[in-house]
Amino acid sequence: ATPTAIMVGIGKGAENNILIKDAESLELGHRVNAVVLDKTGTITQGKPSVTAEHWETGGDVPIAIGTIKSILKAGESRSEHPLATAVVDWLKEEDVAPAKVTDFESLTGRGIRFTHDSATYFVGNERLMTEQKITLGTTLRQHADELRQQANTVIFVAREKETLGLVAISDPIKESSARAIRQLHDRNIAVYMLTGDNEQTAAAVAKQVGLTDYRAEVLPADKAAFVQDLQQQGKIVAMVGDGINDSQALATADVSIAMGHGSDIAMDVAKMTLITSDLTAIPRALELSKITVRGIR
Ligand code: ADP
Ligand code: MG
Repeated sequence: ATPTAIMVGIGKGAENNILIKDAESLELGHRVNAVVLDKTGTITQGKPSVTAEHWETGGDVPIAIGTIKSILKAGESRSEHPLATAVVDWLKEEDVAPAKVTDFESLTGRGIRFTHDSATYFVGNERLMTEQKITLGTTLRQHADELRQQANTVIFVAREKETLGLVAISDPIKESSARAIRQLHDRNIAVYMLTGDNEQTAAAVAKQVGLTDYRAEVLPADKAAFVQDLQQQGKIVAMVGDGINDSQALATADVSIAMGHGSDIAMDVAKMTLITSDLTAIPRALELSKITVRGIR
């Protein structure tokens, strides 16, 4: 496209809440035939809140629910993950005593680990529990399955090798997600969802937005590898995400789109930023590219 057409395209983008950093993505956009969407904060609102809790306090060393909550609050206060914020906000409303936490460690794609009163605690997903050889009892598993089928993310709490319970967190799906995905499908664009979240939760969200292609329990590097696989199949790939955990995949994609509310890293890496949470801005951005490129022919 000519410099003038590019300028017009960038201006039109701005009118449509799409900030375009370079000419190249504007020129490539109309050739995109695969769109990869992050789940949390892209398809969902990124405003998670606690919806359910289940505790098992009569284990080898009995513990009171109030004690678990104070330890959980202290541990999650150290994490910057949106799920951690949801847990801390929820416990703010309850009368929870402060607890002392040491040796805090964040475990990518899994959760957190820390020490309290010389015991090691693990808070995170099933992958974390499995890796730590912490067994989930039948009742706990049943609760988790049921909550995940309702699109909740389940976080387990364990002390040493023993589970203490779970917390369920729900992040509402954006009103625009299903419509945006339909518009992309109508343009014969393949749409995929990637998430670090659990398989069942991912399946429930995918179903609600009309997606059949998704990958659950993916680590940040796997998100980038997935984009690369599509490229090797000859696809021109747009990646849309908001998190630090999306930045590798954004850097790999042909067209990279960050959500404006997201992390600075995602916005730094991406060539386009949506300054709206409305996902129909994605098909509009690709359409804009078509108009820009056509303009010069
Ligand atoms: P995503 O943002 O796509 O869900 P992440 O890699 O950030 O992917 O997280 C993957 C999973 O790890 C989360 O769904 C959650 O189960 C677990 N997790 C990560 N951080 C925490 C935390 N601070 N507390 C509890 N669980 C966590
Ligand atoms: Mg995200």
